Amino acid sequence: MPKSARRRAAANESSTAECTEDAAKVLSKTMTLPTSPFASYLPSRREECGIFGIFGHPDAAKLTFFGLYALQHRGQESAGIAVSDGVRVQEYKHMGLVWEVFREETLKPLTGHLAIGHVRYSTTGSSLLANAQPFLVHHGNEYYAIAHNGNLTNAAHLRRKLEHHGAIFQSTMDTEIFVHLLARKLRNGFEEALVDAMETVHGAYSVVMCTRDKLIGVRDPYGFRPLCLGRVNGSYVLASETCALDLIEAEYIRDIEPGEIVIIDQNGLHSLHFGPKVRPAYCIFEFIYFARPDSNIFGQNVYLVRKRLGHIMARENPLTADLVMPFPDSGNYAALGFAEVAKIPLEMGVIRNHYVGRTFIQPSQAMREFGVRVKLNPVRELLQGKRVILIEDSIIRGTTSRTRIQTLRRAGAKELHMLVSCPPHRFPCPYGIDFSTKGELIAASHSVAEIRNFIGLDSLDYLSLDGLLEAAGTTSTDHQFCMACFTGNYPVKFDEEVSKHCFEKELHSKHA
Ligand code: SF4
Repeated sequence: MPKSARRRAAANESSTAECTEDAAKVLSKTMTLPTSPFASYLPSRREECGIFGIFGHPDAAKLTFFGLYALQHRGQESAGIAVSDGVRVQEYKHMGLVWEVFREETLKPLTGHLAIGHVRYSTTGSSLLANAQPFLVHHGNEYYAIAHNGNLTNAAHLRRKLEHHGAIFQSTMDTEIFVHLLARKLRNGFEEALVDAMETVHGAYSVVMCTRDKLIGVRDPYGFRPLCLGRVNGSYVLASETCALDLIEAEYIRDIEPGEIVIIDQNGLHSLHFGPKVRPAYCIFEFIYFARPDSNIFGQNVYLVRKRLGHIMARENPLTADLVMPFPDSGNYAALGFAEVAKIPLEMGVIRNHYVGRTFIQPSQAMREFGVRVKLNPVRELLQGKRVILIEDSIIRGTTSRTRIQTLRRAGAKELHMLVSCPPHRFPCPYGIDFSTKGELIAASHSVAEIRNFIGLDSLDYLSLDGLLEAAGTTSTDHQFCMACFTGNYPVKFDEEVSKHCFEKELHSKHA
């Protein structure tokens, strides 16, 4: 564990001593404080992964560090960088946030002109160091390092098949499947093997890879996850989102196209295309929640799309109230848009304690609720006797919202109306978001009225599907988005066997 991380653990423990007696009693009955400092940063929502790559820069690892820093919102479990100096590829990865994993002393040995990096939120394979990325292997006399954002929907079938042919897996991530498929076809040449591997896997994958002397970027034929290309001082850069380009002052060139492989080496950049020519299925939830508002993805600025979500919600739900507030701050931009059109004052009715860390320290319900209470404090004087409209980006389980609502009621709010800036999540996502079963989704089994009652609201409404598409600048006939978690129309078939822990379960079932 890095020193800074140990310091954080100590800080968490000492903060317990300052709790009130009641809170301490609850604490002692319901939970154990995290022994791992990383645990306190587990995301409160279902994020995914961030990837970054750079070719032709003397400080490749350092720029990758900054790129990952900008992409930290996409994954907080582990961070890693693989770097090549043209002779060998070496890597460093660890559990934790980018700034915890990388320090001057860990970055200094990572010398080279070519690097890739990854921040992880686990969607296939547990949150373990063995599953941290980039994933680096040697084969023949070459190195292959890979970092992946998304989920392979035929991973279980492919892994079984590869194992049947003698493949030995080192991790329980679907990402490892890419390198096994690649290695099996390398006798046909690198590019042909790469295309073959990409055509064999199904599902969502934006990938960065490197060898000794090549940087490779790949986006699946549907383009589920974003991946863009930029340039800084003559060096090519690949990143999940443009906010990573901004931080290193790289110029945005273009998005990697769905079904495109870009190969960057000392001769420049060239592209290969693979897979079926299909209608893209960009993940629309990137606009609602995942991507950073200062990023441009799928040809649009995220901030402006979120603000439009608010404009349309105000048009679809003409409510009157004393104030509108984001709930707590994930709905900021939609709330801004809503307030602008509804002409209701926008206020920050709850204040986040930014030093507590993320909630959901442990999966037990009691712990989760404590996490919410300790992190958010309502502004009583603002809320007392008021009719409040809360803008939320999404409701997944509903349990967090329920606890937050109780807090607002206790603070004296007279009426609480919630508007959600997307339609109800009724279907699981098999493409790399961590709500992969229906059981995790309250809207899969409950009506809007039941959810309203469960959370304890005076009213609850969701943005319509057409409203969501309008905010994303398109219509139900022309769109190029995946909306399967709202509609159940899955653009790519998926194997129901594939889940976050499917490979671990399979491994252990053989010994049960
Ligand atoms: S199912 Fe939902 S979260 Fe998953 S890729 Fe499609 S839109 Fe995104």
